Amino acid sequence: MKKKYKIKGVDYKITICKLNNIDGDCDNETHEIRISDKLAGKEKFLTLLHEIVHAISHQCAWNQVISLSIEQIIAETSAQVLFDLFFKKDYSFK
Ligand SMILES: [Zn+2]
Repeated sequence: MKKKYKIKGVDYKITICKLNNIDGDCDNETHEIRISDKLAGKEKFLTLLHEIVHAISHQCAWNQVISLSIEQIIAETSAQVLFDLFFKKDYSFK
């Protein structure tokens, strides 16, 4: 897992930290994605993908034309599909 990802030209910093009752979040003002330090392996990686989709939504301005609940469904399903496509066997990021 990298410490930052460039999403549509914007660096998003990845922080692993204590979070209460959520697996992760994406702050599009500070460009920070936070992942719960309670997660490991596949769940940690799925959460990262989910939050990256939120960042894409913001950077591509989907979030101006879809509701947050729809964005949530897109983030969840895209994360799962991308994981299955590219990382199912090895999600350690080499
Ligand atoms: Zn979400």
